[in-house]
Amino acid sequence: MNQNKTAFKAIIRVCKSLTVKDEYMGFNTVEVLREPLIYAENKADVKLQLLEKYPQFFQNGKVYEKETKNDKAQFFYVVIFPLYNHEIELINEGEWVCDHCGHVHENKYLSRPIESRKFEGKIFCGGDYKTGNDLVNHSCYELWKKEKFKHEEMPDDLNYINKDSSHYIYKCTEKSTGKCYVGKTRNAPFFRWWNHLTHSSSPFGLYLRQTSLSDWIFEVLEELPPSTSESEVFRIESEYIVKFNSINNGFNSLISNKNVVPKAVGTLFE
Ligand SMILES: [Zn+2]
Repeated sequence: MNQNKTAFKAIIRVCKSLTVKDEYMGFNTVEVLREPLIYAENKADVKLQLLEKYPQFFQNGKVYEKETKNDKAQFFYVVIFPLYNHEIELINEGEWVCDHCGHVHENKYLSRPIESRKFEGKIFCGGDYKTGNDLVNHSCYELWKKEKFKHEEMPDDLNYINKDSSHYIYKCTEKSTGKCYVGKTRNAPFFRWWNHLTHSSSPFGLYLRQTSLSDWIFEVLEELPPSTSESEVFRIESEYIVKFNSINNGFNSLISNKNVVPKAVGTLFE
Protein backbone atom coordinates (compact mmCIF):
# COMPACT_ATOMS: atom_id res chain seq x y z
CA MET A 1 0.00 0.00 0.00
CA ASN A 2 2.90 2.33 0.76
CA GLN A 3 5.30 0.53 -1.53
CA ASN A 4 6.81 3.62 -3.18
CA LYS A 5 7.10 5.52 0.05
CA THR A 6 9.61 5.59 2.84
CA ALA A 7 8.73 5.33 6.53
CA PHE A 8 9.82 8.35 8.58
CA LYS A 9 9.48 9.46 12.16
CA ALA A 10 9.33 13.06 13.29
CA ILE A 11 9.57 14.98 16.55
CA ILE A 12 8.13 18.45 16.90
CA ARG A 13 9.92 20.58 19.45
CA VAL A 14 9.50 24.09 20.69
CA CYS A 15 12.45 26.34 21.31
CA LYS A 16 11.10 28.23 24.30
CA SER A 17 13.68 30.88 24.58
CA LEU A 18 17.21 30.77 23.36
CA THR A 19 18.17 33.39 25.91
CA VAL A 20 17.45 30.95 28.76
CA LYS A 21 20.25 28.46 28.94
CA ASP A 22 19.32 24.87 29.58
CA GLU A 23 21.68 23.11 31.99
CA TYR A 24 22.69 20.41 29.54
CA MET A 25 21.52 21.23 26.06
CA GLY A 26 22.81 24.78 26.01
CA PHE A 27 19.35 26.09 25.07
CA ASN A 28 15.86 25.47 26.25
CA THR A 29 13.76 23.06 24.19
CA VAL A 30 10.65 21.07 24.92
CA GLU A 31 9.40 18.10 22.98
CA VAL A 32 5.84 18.84 21.91
CA LEU A 33 4.87 15.67 20.12
CA ARG A 34 6.14 12.65 18.29
CA GLU A 35 4.88 11.23 15.05
CA PRO A 36 6.39 7.75 15.09
CA LEU A 37 5.29 6.73 11.61
CA ILE A 38 4.78 8.84 8.51
CA TYR A 39 4.86 7.33 5.03
CA ALA A 40 6.24 9.87 2.58
CA GLU A 41 8.18 10.31 -0.67
CA ASN A 42 10.95 12.23 1.06
CA LYS A 43 11.59 14.68 3.91
CA ALA A 44 9.93 17.55 2.03
CA ASP A 45 6.80 15.40 1.80
CA VAL A 46 7.00 14.68 5.54
CA LYS A 47 7.09 18.43 6.17
CA LEU A 48 4.05 18.98 3.95
CA GLN A 49 2.11 16.32 5.84
CA LEU A 50 3.08 17.83 9.20
CA LEU A 51 2.08 21.29 8.00
CA GLU A 52 -1.32 19.98 6.98
CA LYS A 53 -1.85 18.05 10.22
CA TYR A 54 -0.44 20.61 12.67
CA PRO A 55 -0.76 24.09 11.16
CA GLN A 56 -0.80 25.58 14.68
CA PHE A 57 2.87 24.74 15.16
CA PHE A 58 4.04 26.29 11.95
CA GLN A 59 3.11 29.92 11.62
CA ASN A 60 3.38 31.53 8.18
CA GLY A 61 3.29 28.03 6.71
CA LYS A 62 6.95 27.43 7.47
CA VAL A 63 8.35 24.25 8.95
CA TYR A 64 11.77 24.80 10.45
CA GLU A 65 14.10 21.86 10.67
CA LYS A 66 16.63 23.27 13.10
CA GLU A 67 16.87 25.83 15.83
CA THR A 68 18.51 29.06 14.81
CA LYS A 69 21.14 29.99 17.36
CA ASN A 70 20.60 33.73 17.19
CA ASP A 71 16.83 33.67 17.12
CA LYS A 72 15.36 34.82 20.43
CA ALA A 73 11.73 34.13 19.60
CA GLN A 74 9.71 31.10 20.57
CA PHE A 75 9.21 28.83 17.61
CA PHE A 76 8.58 25.24 16.61
CA TYR A 77 10.84 23.02 14.62
CA VAL A 78 10.86 19.44 13.55
CA VAL A 79 13.42 16.65 13.54
CA ILE A 80 12.85 14.01 10.86
CA PHE A 81 14.48 10.58 10.56
CA PRO A 82 13.84 7.66 8.23
CA LEU A 83 13.01 4.54 10.26
CA TYR A 84 15.83 2.12 10.95
CA ASN A 85 15.61 -1.32 9.37
CA HIS A 86 14.97 -2.97 12.71
CA GLU A 87 12.00 -0.66 13.24
CA ILE A 88 10.58 -1.55 9.83
CA GLU A 89 10.99 -5.22 10.73
CA LEU A 90 8.96 -4.62 13.89
CA ILE A 91 6.17 -3.14 11.77
CA ASN A 92 6.29 -6.04 9.35
CA GLU A 93 5.97 -8.58 12.15
CA GLY A 94 2.41 -7.30 12.56
CA GLU A 95 0.00 -7.73 15.45
CA TRP A 96 0.86 -8.98 18.91
CA VAL A 97 -1.31 -9.74 21.94
CA CYS A 98 -0.50 -8.84 25.54
CA ASP A 99 -0.47 -11.98 27.71
CA HIS A 100 -1.79 -10.03 30.67
CA CYS A 101 -4.66 -7.85 29.44
CA GLY A 102 -5.32 -9.44 26.04
CA HIS A 103 -5.06 -6.17 24.15
CA VAL A 104 -4.24 -6.65 20.46
CA HIS A 105 -1.49 -4.25 19.42
CA GLU A 106 -1.12 -3.18 15.79
CA ASN A 107 2.61 -3.90 15.73
CA LYS A 108 5.69 -3.98 17.94
CA TYR A 109 7.04 -0.71 16.63
CA LEU A 110 4.08 1.54 17.45
CA SER A 111 3.57 -0.03 20.86
CA ARG A 112 6.65 -1.77 22.06
CA PRO A 113 6.20 -4.80 24.31
CA ILE A 114 8.27 -5.68 27.34
CA GLU A 115 9.59 -9.02 26.28
CA SER A 116 11.97 -11.36 28.04
CA ARG A 117 12.43 -15.03 28.75
CA LYS A 118 12.68 -14.12 32.42
CA PHE A 119 8.95 -13.54 32.59
CA GLU A 120 7.90 -17.11 31.78
CA GLY A 121 7.87 -16.44 28.04
CA LYS A 122 5.08 -13.91 28.43
CA ILE A 123 4.80 -10.70 26.49
CA PHE A 124 3.45 -7.52 28.13
CA CYS A 125 2.25 -4.04 27.29
CA GLY A 126 5.05 -1.71 28.20
CA GLY A 127 3.21 1.52 28.94
CA ASP A 128 1.13 3.87 26.80
CA TYR A 129 -0.87 2.55 23.91
CA LYS A 130 -3.81 3.85 21.94
CA THR A 131 -7.13 2.06 21.79
CA GLY A 132 -9.62 4.00 19.70
CA ASN A 133 -9.05 7.56 20.78
CA ASP A 134 -8.08 6.67 24.33
CA LEU A 135 -4.51 6.60 25.47
CA VAL A 136 -4.18 3.78 27.97
CA ASN A 137 -1.38 4.10 30.45
CA HIS A 138 -0.37 1.05 32.39
CA SER A 139 2.46 -1.40 32.46
CA CYS A 140 1.03 -4.89 32.30
CA TYR A 141 4.40 -6.28 33.38
CA GLU A 142 4.22 -4.27 36.62
CA LEU A 143 0.62 -5.37 37.21
CA TRP A 144 1.46 -9.00 36.51
CA LYS A 145 4.51 -8.90 38.76
CA LYS A 146 2.51 -7.35 41.60
CA GLU A 147 -0.14 -10.07 41.34
CA LYS A 148 2.34 -12.91 40.92
CA PHE A 149 4.53 -11.98 43.88
CA LYS A 150 1.84 -10.76 46.26
CA HIS A 151 2.31 -13.70 48.64
CA GLU A 152 6.07 -14.01 48.21
CA GLU A 153 8.99 -12.40 49.89
CA MET A 154 10.77 -10.31 47.32
CA PRO A 155 14.45 -11.06 46.70
CA ASP A 156 16.45 -8.20 48.14
CA ASP A 157 19.00 -7.70 45.41
CA LEU A 158 16.62 -6.78 42.60
CA ASN A 159 15.26 -3.49 41.41
CA TYR A 160 11.62 -2.83 42.25
CA ILE A 161 11.54 0.70 40.93
CA ASN A 162 8.51 1.68 38.89
CA LYS A 163 6.75 4.94 38.11
CA ASP A 164 4.96 4.87 41.48
CA SER A 165 8.16 4.50 43.49
CA SER A 166 9.06 7.29 45.88
CA HIS A 167 12.55 8.71 46.18
CA TYR A 168 14.16 8.24 49.59
CA ILE A 169 16.95 10.22 51.17
CA TYR A 170 18.51 8.13 53.92
CA LYS A 171 21.21 8.41 56.55
CA CYS A 172 23.41 5.76 58.12
CA THR A 173 25.04 6.98 61.34
CA GLU A 174 27.89 5.43 63.30
CA LYS A 175 26.74 5.64 66.94
CA SER A 176 30.15 6.02 68.55
CA THR A 177 31.36 8.91 66.36
CA GLY A 178 28.16 10.48 65.02
CA LYS A 179 29.71 10.33 61.55
CA CYS A 180 27.25 9.50 58.83
CA TYR A 181 26.62 8.60 55.22
CA VAL A 182 23.77 10.27 53.31
CA GLY A 183 22.39 8.56 50.22
CA LYS A 184 19.35 8.35 48.00
CA THR A 185 17.47 5.49 46.42
CA ARG A 186 14.20 4.76 44.64
CA ASN A 187 14.32 1.14 45.68
CA ALA A 188 13.08 0.15 49.14
CA PRO A 189 15.68 1.69 51.49
CA PHE A 190 16.13 -1.69 53.27
CA PHE A 191 17.37 -3.14 49.99
CA ARG A 192 19.77 -0.28 49.48
CA TRP A 193 21.15 -0.75 53.00
CA TRP A 194 21.44 -4.48 52.41
CA ASN A 195 23.48 -3.60 49.34
CA HIS A 196 25.89 -1.47 51.38
CA LEU A 197 26.14 -4.27 53.94
CA THR A 198 26.79 -7.13 51.56
CA HIS A 199 28.45 -6.17 48.31
CA SER A 200 28.72 -2.44 47.64
CA SER A 201 32.30 -1.56 46.66
CA SER A 202 31.99 2.10 47.69
CA PRO A 203 34.34 3.36 50.43
CA PHE A 204 31.32 3.53 52.73
CA GLY A 205 30.29 -0.07 52.00
CA LEU A 206 33.84 -1.31 52.57
CA TYR A 207 34.05 0.51 55.91
CA LEU A 208 30.61 -0.63 57.03
CA ARG A 209 31.51 -4.27 56.56
CA GLN A 210 34.46 -3.98 58.95
CA THR A 211 32.14 -2.93 61.76
CA SER A 212 29.25 -4.48 63.62
CA LEU A 213 25.67 -3.85 62.56
CA SER A 214 24.81 -2.79 66.11
CA ASP A 215 27.22 0.16 65.72
CA TRP A 216 24.80 1.83 63.31
CA ILE A 217 21.52 3.70 63.01
CA PHE A 218 19.71 3.50 59.67
CA GLU A 219 17.04 6.06 58.99
CA VAL A 220 15.00 7.61 56.21
CA LEU A 221 15.33 11.41 56.28
CA GLU A 222 12.81 12.25 53.63
CA GLU A 223 10.41 10.57 51.23
CA LEU A 224 9.90 12.49 47.98
CA PRO A 225 7.00 11.92 45.56
CA PRO A 226 7.59 9.70 42.48
CA SER A 227 7.32 12.72 40.17
CA THR A 228 10.33 14.47 41.74
CA SER A 229 13.01 15.06 39.11
CA GLU A 230 16.44 13.47 39.45
CA SER A 231 18.07 16.88 39.67
CA GLU A 232 15.69 17.93 42.48
CA VAL A 233 16.43 14.71 44.41
CA PHE A 234 20.12 15.35 43.90
CA ARG A 235 19.75 18.92 45.17
CA ILE A 236 17.97 17.78 48.34
CA GLU A 237 20.46 14.98 48.95
CA SER A 238 23.29 17.49 48.56
CA GLU A 239 21.65 19.79 51.12
CA TYR A 240 21.64 16.98 53.68
CA ILE A 241 25.24 16.10 52.86
CA VAL A 242 26.18 19.70 53.59
CA LYS A 243 23.95 19.86 56.69
CA PHE A 244 25.52 16.75 58.27
CA ASN A 245 29.00 17.63 57.00
CA SER A 246 29.28 14.04 55.81
CA ILE A 247 32.02 14.70 53.28
CA ASN A 248 34.53 16.44 55.57
CA ASN A 249 33.56 14.53 58.68
CA GLY A 250 31.70 11.44 57.48
CA PHE A 251 31.47 8.72 54.85
CA ASN A 252 30.35 10.52 51.71
CA SER A 253 33.32 10.76 49.39
CA LEU A 254 32.11 13.61 47.17
CA ILE A 255 28.96 15.29 45.95
CA SER A 256 28.31 13.62 42.65
CA ASN A 257 25.42 12.11 40.86
CA LYS A 258 25.92 9.65 38.05
CA ASN A 259 22.21 9.71 37.23
CA VAL A 260 22.14 13.33 36.20
CA VAL A 261 23.50 13.16 32.68
CA PRO A 262 22.11 14.74 29.54
CA LYS A 263 19.76 12.52 27.57
CA ALA A 264 21.17 11.59 24.20
CA VAL A 265 19.48 13.32 21.30
CA GLY A 266 18.46 11.05 18.46
CA THR A 267 17.57 8.02 20.55
CA LEU A 268 14.15 9.31 21.54
CA PHE A 269 12.36 6.40 19.90
CA GLU A 270 14.62 3.70 21.26
ZN1 LIG B 1 -1.50 -5.42 28.51
